[in-house]
Amino acid sequence: MKLRTNAPDYTHYRMLISFAHPDDESFGMGGAIAYYAQRGVSISLICATNGDVGTVDAAMLDGYDSIGALRLEELRCAARLLDIRDVITYGYRDSGMMGTPENEHPDCLWQADEDTVVGRITHDIRRRRPHIVVTFDPFGGYGHPDHIFMHRATTRAFHAAGDPNEYPEQITGGLAAYTPAKLYYTAFPRLPLRLLVWQTRLRGDDPRRMGKNHDLDLQAAVDNLLPTHTRLNVARYQSAWDAAARCHASQQNPRHTNSFLDRLQRVIFRHQDFTRAWPKPNGRDRLERDLFAGIMPEIRSDIRSDIGADAGADVAGNTGGG
Ligand SMILES: [Zn+2]
Repeated sequence: MKLRTNAPDYTHYRMLISFAHPDDESFGMGGAIAYYAQRGVSISLICATNGDVGTVDAAMLDGYDSIGALRLEELRCAARLLDIRDVITYGYRDSGMMGTPENEHPDCLWQADEDTVVGRITHDIRRRRPHIVVTFDPFGGYGHPDHIFMHRATTRAFHAAGDPNEYPEQITGGLAAYTPAKLYYTAFPRLPLRLLVWQTRLRGDDPRRMGKNHDLDLQAAVDNLLPTHTRLNVARYQSAWDAAARCHASQQNPRHTNSFLDRLQRVIFRHQDFTRAWPKPNGRDRLERDLFAGIMPEIRSDIRSDIGADAGADVAGNTGGG
């Protein structure tokens, strides 16, 4: 569904989002994805792991071989509702948190060869030629090893994709070197995050051990916040955002709540913030209101037309670990 809007024509713009788990897209930036998808931006999503380590109620696993299979089905549901037509899964095992046995598993992303993952992301950038690449900040939002790994690998791939000497076999294989216009990191909005920490303490909960998997450290997230360079008002996209978040029913849905404080929090979270990593801000930039701000039509280069066709196959064919 295209939104009736006076906004510029976005239908030639492409965005690549590079994340780690099935649910990062919905819980992390579902509002921004709905905002751009409804304007016609074609959105590709890399999901590097199958989310195998998430805590899941046994009853929810009925009909699934594994937690990973269930979570990839939840991802398909969210992608449908957010109108992400190109979902690319890498099939690594979820690495769990630092110091856990999952973090030592040979198939997990944390143990993967970083150059190999950088090569895969570089390939996806060269093939899809996005104008914008979005990934996690250096701290991975709240310190999850898979988020940190994808931050590093995606940042390296963003710069490698434009250099024909990097992964030259991709160039001889028919892909052209390509540098996207901008690289962004997702950022929690500062004030709402502080309020959330305060509210959590008030409830008697530990802000360092939040979420269903007790691996969400809100205090560290506050301590590691980077400056916001772009702020999107996603208030009109809350319902699409909610619907996508509800797909991830096996994980606690942070948006499915009814208390007054929680509803207040949703009003505060009507913005999604981003840190611009490239081109580097010069300190005099005004707050951007659009990730595509300043991107000229002439760099909306053509793209291979066969991308959409293999998107479903990517999700369907890659449900195993490793
Ligand atoms: Zn995640």
